[in-house]
Amino acid sequence: MDRIESCNSLWLLDSTVMQFCRLPRGTDPANAVSAPWQRYYAFEDESDTGAFRVALDARRTRWLASWRHVEPCARCTDDRTREVVMPPPGTVGAGSSRPRGAGDS
Ligand SMILES: [Zn+2]
Repeated sequence: MDRIESCNSLWLLDSTVMQFCRLPRGTDPANAVSAPWQRYYAFEDESDTGAFRVALDARRTRWLASWRHVEPCARCTDDRTREVVMPPPGTVGAGSSRPRGAGDS
């Protein structure tokens, strides 16, 4: 059983039966027995970016993607500073060019 922490969820992946389940962060993983498990058809992990995704259909046309939560976490920091005055363009340090848009629900 693989266990992956994203910023919003705890993902549990059972590769032997190809099923995964997502729990809100902070939930006791013991609750996973009563959580809805969903079939997945592929798992991809980008160790350099922390991104990972699962294919929701056999033809791999629908993917559910997220990012691993790490400390310190740039994504969580982004969320916290979103409503603060932004620095002028060009002053943001290198390394902030992460792919975005897939979302993490
Ligand atoms: Zn995070």
